[in-house]
Amino acid sequence: MITSNDIRRSFLDYFGRAGHRIVPSAPLVPQNDPTLMFVNAGMVPFKNVFTGLESRPYSTAVSSQKCVRAGGKHNDLDNVGYTARHHTFFEMLGNFSFGDYFKPQAIELAWTLLTKEWGIPAEKLTVTVYHTDDEAAALWKSIAGLPDERIIRIATNDNFWSMGDTGPCGPCSEIFYDHGDHIPGGPPGSPDEDGDRFVEIWNLVFMQYEQVDAATRLDLPRPSIDTGMGLERIAAVLQGVHDNYDTDTFKALIRASEERTQPAANAGQIASHRIIADHLRASGFLVADGVLPSNEGRGYVLRRIMRRAMRHAHLLGAAEPLMYRLVPALVAEMGVAFPELARAQPLIEETLKLEETRFRQTLVNGLRLLDEATAKMGPGDILPGDVAFKLYDTFGFPYDLTEDALRANGLSVDRAGFDTAMAEQKRAARAAWTGSGAKASDTVWFDIVEASGATEFTGYSSTRGQAQV
Ligand code: ATP
Ligand code: MG
Ligand code: MG
Ligand code: MG
Repeated sequence: MITSNDIRRSFLDYFGRAGHRIVPSAPLVPQNDPTLMFVNAGMVPFKNVFTGLESRPYSTAVSSQKCVRAGGKHNDLDNVGYTARHHTFFEMLGNFSFGDYFKPQAIELAWTLLTKEWGIPAEKLTVTVYHTDDEAAALWKSIAGLPDERIIRIATNDNFWSMGDTGPCGPCSEIFYDHGDHIPGGPPGSPDEDGDRFVEIWNLVFMQYEQVDAATRLDLPRPSIDTGMGLERIAAVLQGVHDNYDTDTFKALIRASEERTQPAANAGQIASHRIIADHLRASGFLVADGVLPSNEGRGYVLRRIMRRAMRHAHLLGAAEPLMYRLVPALVAEMGVAFPELARAQPLIEETLKLEETRFRQTLVNGLRLLDEATAKMGPGDILPGDVAFKLYDTFGFPYDLTEDALRANGLSVDRAGFDTAMAEQKRAARAAWTGSGAKASDTVWFDIVEASGATEFTGYSSTRGQAQV
């Protein structure tokens, strides 16, 4: 069986042989974009190269980029454990042309890799093109020999990529693998496209325009290519399984989780082990790249990910902190490809152990409160916002953790009520704070906390003695 590590190597080598510079993954914390929480696509580290702000000593590149999609525009946190194809942390394999080759070569390179190098049967593959991109449709026909019904024209933004309101943009073409009619889901563009039968494996972006302002779009003199393929998704295809969580890397992590808790006996426990495996990867890689759990910004996203996993560890009956004991399995799977992970192993273990030890002190009481509050509720009911806020404020439950906990029973949370309770607490806290002789800098601090979105802070005013965990 070809392992995930082999597939990454094979991808890099294939494009390396085709003249691309092999570029190591950039860290998860963006180095060139303060507006972005985490790197969420392979092209992010090359953004300034595409816009021409920066030049490199090469015009084509290939990488396997660490990505996190757990906040902001791309947030796959709620999909994890419930679809076959989403992770919070994943690797995006990508080849890039900075004004070098364009559509014909990009399609040719992708098709040859998939069907010749890796031997995927052509009849399993379906592609989409942007509805006006006749050029791409014709190339898929001539290069890949695909019949018209497997070149699907899509008119939505799924097939038109842009960097922002201005900057490079263009149509894209996505490649889907059909896992077979025993799995629910329809082809791309159909009403049930979100099923897991046709899984999107690779997105080829053709950057051919420059959006100058809302009304002006120019042709780029030297168009570029940006592609992204999820390593975990192509690993599922090449290992002959439908589900990313049945690939070698995830199997090893899930096995470690099962060995230290219990084997999955039902759908809920299967999801718990998957969530633990996924969140272990995200936590480990984020800590290795310098993010530590905290109450705001990136650190709070990490804390949310960690605590979600920790609730699932508790559900599986873990009697003591679990996550840190899974780190050796993670390093065994991925530490060779990512030496920073192996180097950070002691820090990752220490961080997870401390976070889980602290959270466990309030987790059980919080879950008890939640059980009491929902005892008389049934599917479709809504948990009052002030209960969710109390869980957050007193028991350290991130909002989305409460949502995740309710999901199994078909319950949801009154978000507006939660926000109101949060605003009220901030107002009270601010009143107490300015009463003690606030300086201008205090106001700034409050604004920063608010701008960073959901935060978790109590215990600085004399009336609230809650220790923060
Ligand atoms: P989907 O529609 O399945 O959510 P996407 O269209 O959001 O995927 P892109 O932004 O086009 O994904 O990213 C390029 C590739 O990265 C995808 O084709 C897929 O292989 C992979 N990918 C995207 N999101 C994830 C994720 N959350 N977990 C694993 N792989 C992903
Ligand atoms: Mg997506
Ligand atoms: Mg998609
Ligand atoms: Mg896509």
